Amino acid sequence: MRHPLVMGNWKLNGSKHMTAELIAGLRNALSGVDGCDVAIAPPVMYLEQAHQAIAGSHIALGAQNVDVNLSGAFTGEVSAEMLRDIGARYIIIGHSERRTYHKESDELVAKKFAILKDAGLIPVLCIGETEAENEAGKTEEVCSRQIDAVLNTLGAGAFNGAVIAYEPVWAIGTGKSATPAQAQAVHKFIRDHVAKKDAAVAQQLILQYGGSVNDKNAAELFAQPDIDGALVGGASLKADAFTAIVKAA
Ligand code: 13P
Repeated sequence: MRHPLVMGNWKLNGSKHMTAELIAGLRNALSGVDGCDVAIAPPVMYLEQAHQAIAGSHIALGAQNVDVNLSGAFTGEVSAEMLRDIGARYIIIGHSERRTYHKESDELVAKKFAILKDAGLIPVLCIGETEAENEAGKTEEVCSRQIDAVLNTLGAGAFNGAVIAYEPVWAIGTGKSATPAQAQAVHKFIRDHVAKKDAAVAQQLILQYGGSVNDKNAAELFAQPDIDGALVGGASLKADAFTAIVKAA
């Protein structure tokens, strides 16, 4: 049985005060809640504070990005080893905001995937089509291309213990979530696509949905057979909304 995973991507939001308040609220609201893995990915600046604040709770630490280089003259970057050192486990890579604003290619994202596996960290590989691609009927083509960049270089075994987050770009931050049926259809396509290479790996692969997930639509999304949790943006910044999403999973 796949264990659901709900992860909060704080993006470029937070402060010392907010980190303390939000984690205290989550610890309180989530105590005794079982059956769903929970992770938060604050900005890298607050990882150490968050790591201390979640100590002894079931909340795991994540991060929003990693560099492909291990160390050296790469100003402004953060390595996989540093993330591991600070206690992060789930590392988001290939988020559409990074693909768009930082021109990250499928090949670069695949390298990040490999770096994370080497460091013993869990890649959360974000994939998904834009609105134009969706309207052109290219959803499956885009998702398979983004997955194949990893599959064809590292093999299906690399997805053992990894996470894929399907985040249609048109649903991110728009309040316009994919319908449960739409999301399920793409999730099934993704699982089947990986299964063509390795059925056992595909069967245990955690497939998160992301894009305007909130406390109202979460339960119906999670009721779909191939949706194993969510990658949550805006609603992860409010303890009550995020807790309700975790409970729905
Ligand atoms: P929203 O939940 O704000 O739509 O963001 C989704 C997302 O991009 C998570 O990575």
